[in-house]
This record gives sequence, structure tokens and C-alpha cells, in this order.
Amino acid sequence: MPYVFDFDHSHAQPPMELKDLLGGKGANLAEMTSVLRLPVPPGFTISTDACRAHMASGWPESLTAEVAAARGRLEKAMGKVIGDASDPLLVSVRSGAKFSMPGMMDTVLNLGLNDESVEGLAKQTGDERFAFDSYRRFIAMYGRIVLDLPGEEFETLFEAAKELAGTNSDAKVPVELLRYLVDAYQQTVERLTGAPFPQDPAAQLRGAIEAVFRSWNGPRAIAYRQHEHISHELGTAVNVQAMVFGNRDENSGTGVGFTRDPATGAKGAYGDFLVNAQGEDVVAGIRNTEPISELKKQFPSVYTQLTDIFTRLETHYSDMCDTEFTIEQGKLWMLQTRVGKRTGVAALKMAVDMVRSSDLGISKAEAVMRITEDHLDSVLHPQFAGTGYSVWAKGLGASPGAAVGRIYFTADDAEAAAERGERVILVRNETSPEDVHGMLASEGILTARGGLVSHAAVVARGWGKPAVVGAEVLRLSDHAVTAGDLTLHEGDWVSLDGGAGIVVAGQVPLTEATPPAAFETVLSWADDIRRGHLAVRANADTGEDAANARSLGAEGIGLCRTEHMFLGEDRLPVVRRMILASDPTEEAAALEELRQVQREDFISILAAMDGLPVTVRLLDPPLHEFLPSTEELAIKEATVGLSPEEHRLYEAALSWKEANPMLGTRGVRLGVVKPGLYSMQVRALMEAAWEVVAAGGHPVVEIMIPLTVSREELALARSWVEEAIEKVGADAPTKAIKGGKGSGAGNGKAGKLHVSIGTMIETPRAALRAGEIAEVAEFFSFGTNDLTQMTFGFSRDDVEGRMMSAYLDLGLLPSNPFDIVDFDGVGELVRLGTERGRATRPNLKVGVCGEHGGEPHSIRLFFDAGLDYVSCSPFRVPVARLAAAQAVLAAAPAPAKKSGGKGKGSKAN
Ligand code: PEP
Ligand code: MG
Repeated sequence: MPYVFDFDHSHAQPPMELKDLLGGKGANLAEMTSVLRLPVPPGFTISTDACRAHMASGWPESLTAEVAAARGRLEKAMGKVIGDASDPLLVSVRSGAKFSMPGMMDTVLNLGLNDESVEGLAKQTGDERFAFDSYRRFIAMYGRIVLDLPGEEFETLFEAAKELAGTNSDAKVPVELLRYLVDAYQQTVERLTGAPFPQDPAAQLRGAIEAVFRSWNGPRAIAYRQHEHISHELGTAVNVQAMVFGNRDENSGTGVGFTRDPATGAKGAYGDFLVNAQGEDVVAGIRNTEPISELKKQFPSVYTQLTDIFTRLETHYSDMCDTEFTIEQGKLWMLQTRVGKRTGVAALKMAVDMVRSSDLGISKAEAVMRITEDHLDSVLHPQFAGTGYSVWAKGLGASPGAAVGRIYFTADDAEAAAERGERVILVRNETSPEDVHGMLASEGILTARGGLVSHAAVVARGWGKPAVVGAEVLRLSDHAVTAGDLTLHEGDWVSLDGGAGIVVAGQVPLTEATPPAAFETVLSWADDIRRGHLAVRANADTGEDAANARSLGAEGIGLCRTEHMFLGEDRLPVVRRMILASDPTEEAAALEELRQVQREDFISILAAMDGLPVTVRLLDPPLHEFLPSTEELAIKEATVGLSPEEHRLYEAALSWKEANPMLGTRGVRLGVVKPGLYSMQVRALMEAAWEVVAAGGHPVVEIMIPLTVSREELALARSWVEEAIEKVGADAPTKAIKGGKGSGAGNGKAGKLHVSIGTMIETPRAALRAGEIAEVAEFFSFGTNDLTQMTFGFSRDDVEGRMMSAYLDLGLLPSNPFDIVDFDGVGELVRLGTERGRATRPNLKVGVCGEHGGEPHSIRLFFDAGLDYVSCSPFRVPVARLAAAQAVLAAAPAPAKKSGGKGKGSKAN
């Protein structure tokens, strides 16, 4: 297979389907040239294979001859030679990967100029200034990108020249000074590299091609790929193209055009242009551009030609396209096209309009494939209005949406400020159940430590509150926080973007979050596709959250974390009394109090999800989480002293403190050491369920035991649950039971009450021994947060801030496994656990309720593994509905497609 393909090469497939080989830009240039026959300056593409070969073992030997041959063909087509002393051909050398990575890689323009050809260009164009300005730009660009020299070296010289010329405008620097600058730039190159600026066009070309290959692994590109989950293995293609000049005269210009408005989705040409300018002038924003509609007045025939091309492009790609074009002395050239990026509002509108359009008529499946997680997030949550804000601190984007508020450092202060009517951002090193009231009062949450499944992240996501966690640069001190040179004090404003994980000092204006009508339309199409294949439930712990989840399309609750019910300020003291109890009577009294409050909570959840399954997980986290921090109490003891009550709490906190609490007395182990606890919870739940039945409801209850490791352990826990069900069933209100007082224990049904008992699969052992565990479980729910922690041995609270970025930078992991489920390890356990469980119990219901349940790439894996449902926080439900449909479509035989626009489902891993 050759490495180099001319734009008009006749491929066996439509070029736009060859993005793997030609990159997005190269594929579209070839499509425009060879299929659409649009006016595209000729050129050739060096394939991604060449880049991968270069990454593996340097410049491939055969590439030299292939580039030389392609260059010869290009020169022949143009009737000009690169570097020619009388009428030189100039070329651009641009990157172009499979997935667009705007501005992340490098480009070299005006290549082919040297001390001789610059004179030829001057003569040929009759414009000496233009020629020397082009040469000056080329040397600086080549110096920076190919020779890796600091750009300021050239900028300082240019600024000095402008000062000498007494002007602020680049365009007013006279030719004499430009000639001088060309000399000075060349001397700079020689001084800094020890070699003269390369005059040989072949050497220039090779240098530029290699620089573009290298830029694939530049820090900007790597960071972008990590964020977008694009594989580092793909490599980039390189496009070498004849240059045309929009800066020749007033009959020339350059612009960017979209076939529809990428911000609103409105139909009709959209974009802007500049007369007598080069592409970089438009991008740099130094001159004010004019709207594309103005072209009609200034270049009427070009305008008609361009809008015709736009129509052809839309019909051909069945999608909105963006383009770059240049007018050179009245002639239109198309430099680039691609399916254009768009905002969430525009994406939804276009998808619906294009399904309904008689010209384009895309299928509903295609429309669903075009919507991304980001599109939905942007209409569900407020966002920063505009871009380019200066980032004060960076962390992990743990819960999407943007928030603005004054900072407070304790939950109490945050709550008090919110009560005074202030908008608040709670800033903590990390959060714990004790902070929940402050989190609730806040617009957003910022922590210096913790990862994507830390307490702060999970709670914030559950409420749909923006959160940035693990911002390790933050140093918290008394009522102040420092990052870099800037210290902010209590009451100062910050703005955070919980999707991108960035924090800006001050107030950033926000966009409103109002899902347009098209949102529901597209999601209803997604539901039609996924129904019967993969259900979507929510993780919700209160009636209010359950109702919200249902309104966002949840088909049940996959995880009700009952410990979250204990966090209210009125509940915490009761939990503490239960922990501190010195005899069984005291403990029973505290449990009784908890039972009463839990019962009320369960009633509201079951009522909100009436007729749909509700999985209630019995208490899971380590008890020390309900106790005050030992560090803070130790300081208080040493300074102002502790009250007797605080003394008791301190002792208890010390005695429950564990060295590795996430692997300690949690989950079912807690049930084993506090046996009354689970009975109390089941009693509360069953009483609530019977009350809902009595009120005419149809609760569907699933009782879930967390963190099991063996059949024997689960069988024991199950026996407590069955006992409690039996007991409450026997006492249930008679009017609720038609057909007699069924006990329900173990048979999945009691009167009108459906009850099943199952377990979370959160330990590698449970996944491996799933066959025997399924003997005593009617359902499994994979807790991929803990399963990830235990499979890797990565502490879920610690590793993301400390080492994850190094692991990602070094390519040791393809992505953060707490974000996208680890396909090979954790994924294998999910597949294996499901298979083994179903071998024992073919109708075993299997779901997932770890944070991955709302993450699109992970949803694809869960669907492929045969899971029945995914469960995620309420605000993720729309994303999960969409991703579930995309997983179903991706697994189905490919439907006939008209367009080249594809979803990004295949990007990661
Ligand atoms: C899990 O471990 O994936 C899970 C859902 O439980 P938690 O996050 O509450 O430990
Ligand atoms: Mg867990």
C-alpha cells in the first residue's frame, strides 16, 4: 500500500469513508476533488500509515521517493515548480487526523519560498511587498514549528520593524523593512540552530512533513485526545496543497462558511469573510470580518457559486458542513470541508429538521447517532457563555454544568450564606456526609482532593450540581484558598465548569439551560430504538430525586443508597446514637428511631416510582463516615477542649477509624457486625411498601445486599432479609392483601407486592464466583466504582488526583478507569460475572449502578455484555437513553447510510 495519495486518486471506496487512512481533511479534500469535482487547489495526502510508521521507527525510506513523485505530479498539474526562481509554486503543509482536533496540531504555509523564488514571486505577482511578507511569515512559521524556535524571537523583530515604520498595522510595514526582516529572521535561525535557513524546497518539505507528524504527540494534542477519548495510536495524515492567495488584492479574500448556522441550527448559509486577507487573519481576529451575506454585494457571482456548493455539500454529506474558502483575483477555491461542529441546540434542531426534510431525509437512527453526550449536557445544564476565560485552577470535571458563586469553606458557612440569599460555591479539601447540608445550599462544589467516584462527585452528580473535584493545585488555609499567585478569600466570586473541570476567578456569564422541543423528540426516537434491549434506571435516594429521574425518563431506580437518607442534620445524631450505643437496648432504640424516618423516605420513593422497579441497597459505607473527623477533634481537644458529648464521639471515631476504610467494615460486613441494622432497614422498607399498596400503588421492590464476596455470606444476609419480610408481611394491613396474607419471602411476591432479593457485584471474587452467588440472588447489579477500585487496587479516593494524569500522559492507561469502564479488566469481570450468573439462573436480571452506568462508552460495553439495564444519576438519564440507543445501533447490522457523518462511539479504547 502506498503512503501518498493525490487528491484525485481513484480510490475503490468513496474517499470520505477513508478517514482512517487519509484523515478527515484528506478524505474530504479527495471527496471534493474526485467525486464532487469542486474547485479545490490540487495536492496530495500522506497517509496516517506513514505517521504511524514514523512514530514507530522514524522516516519510512520509501516515503522520500513517493513524496518526490507526488510533488512532480502536483507541479505538472499547476504548471509551476516549487522553489522556481521565476514563477514558483508555493504549498501548504497541514495536519489532518481521523477526528478533527481543531488547532491542536501544526501547519506550515508558503512553503517553497527561498532567497531566489521570493524574487520570482515578486516579479510574477507584480507585488514585491506581498512576496517578502509571505517569505517573512514562512521563515517565522518554519522556525517555530519545524525548528522548534521560540516565536518571540521573530515577534520581537517584527514589533521593532513596526515601531521603526511608525505604524501599528502589519500591512503598513514597507517592503524595505520586510526585506530587512527576512535577513534578520534568517540570521536568528542560524544563530539559534547553528545552520542556515534551508533553501532547498525538498528539505523544507521533508522538515514540514516531519514536524506535522511530531505535532501528533505535542502536549496540546495529547491533552485534547485525552479529553475527547481519542486513541493515541491513530496518528495524523499530512496534506500538501498548492497555495492560493486571498491577500493578492481587493479582488481577493478568504472566509469560513457553514451550510447552516452552527450555533442555532437555522437553515441558510452562515459564516464570515475578509477581503484581501489570508486564512490566519480571519482566525487571529485582528481585523473585523464581514458576514457572508455581504459577499453577495461585493462578489455576486462568487456568492452564487458558493451557495450552490453549500447546497451540493449538504445533499452529498446529508449533514451540515463547514468550509474554508479563498477568492484569488475573483476565482473561488474550496480549501476544506467537513461535517461541522455545532452546539447542542443546533445539533438537536438539525437532527429533527433533517429527518423531516424532503431533500435530506435522514433516518431517525442516523439522527440519534449524530447527537453526543456534550450536546445533551449543554442543553440540560447552564454553561459558560463564550470561551477563552483565564483558568485559575484545574481539576476533574465531576458533574457537568457551570456555576457561579461566592466561596465558603465550611458547610455551615455555605448554608448560612445561602440563607442570606447569596449564591454559594462550597470549597473543601474533600467532602463527607457531614457537609451535605452545605452542598445542598451551594450552586456548585469544588474540592482539592478526591476522584470521580469520591463523595463530592457522587453526591453532586446525583443532584445535578456542577462540581470540580481533585483540583490539587488548591491550597486551603483559614478562610482562604490559593492556586498559583492568586489567593481568594471567603466571599470572593468564582465560576466553575463541572464538565471541563476548570475554575475561573470572578463571575463568568452563564447560558441558560432550557432543553428545546427537539430534545424530547430525539430522545423519544432513542427510546424506540433501545426499548426491549437496554433499560435505563436512575440512582436516587429521595422521593424528589426519584420523581425528577422519572420525569427525565428513568424506568425505575437501580440504586437507592440508603446511607444517603441518614445524612440530614436531624438524622445524623440518631445514627451516631446507634453507633455509640453501649447496650442492645440503647442500640434498638436508635434503630427504631431510624426505622421510622426511613419508612417515610421509602414511601415517597416507592410512590414516585410506582409500578417501576426500585432497588434499595442496604447500608453500605463505613460507620466512621457518620462520625466527626478525628483530626479536627484532636485539634479542638488540644486547643479549646471537648465537651463530654464530643469526647464520646471522638472515642467512637477513633475506634471505628480504619487504615483503608473503603476496604474495611463496609457493605454486608457492616450487616454482620451490626445484625439489627439490616432487619431495621428491611422492616422500614416493607412497611412503606405495604402502605403504598394500601393506597392503591404497585410497588416493585428489589432489596440489594452490597459488597458480597461469597454465597455463604449472601445466604446469611438473605436470611435476615427474608425474616424481616416475613414478619412485616404477616403484620401487613389486611386491606392491602388480596388473596390472603402472603409472606412473600423468597417467592418474589406477597399479595400485590413484588419483592426480589439480589446483590451488588463489587468485588472481583463475587464476579468470579457469580455462578454460586446466583444460587441465592435473583438479580445482580455491578457496582463498577468498587469493582474498578478493587480490580486495579486503585483507591477510589486518592489515585485520580495523585497519579492518574501521569498514567494517562505516559499512555499507561487509555483513559481514567473511574470515568470510562476498563474494557479489558473490569469489563472482563462484568462479562464473566454475567455469564456465570446466568449459567446458574438463566433469568437472572443484571444491571449496573456504578458511575459508569451514565457514561456512553461504558454503556456500549454493558449492552454488549448482555446487561438488562444501566442505572445512573437522574441528570445523566437522558445521556444514558441516547447512549443505550447508540449501543443498540452500533451492534446491529449497519443500516444503509447516505452520509459520511458518524457518531464517535468507536473512538475510545
Ligand atoms: C459502586 O461501587 O459502583 C456503587 C454503586 O456503590 P458506591 O459507589 O456507593 O460504593
Ligand atoms: Mg460500592
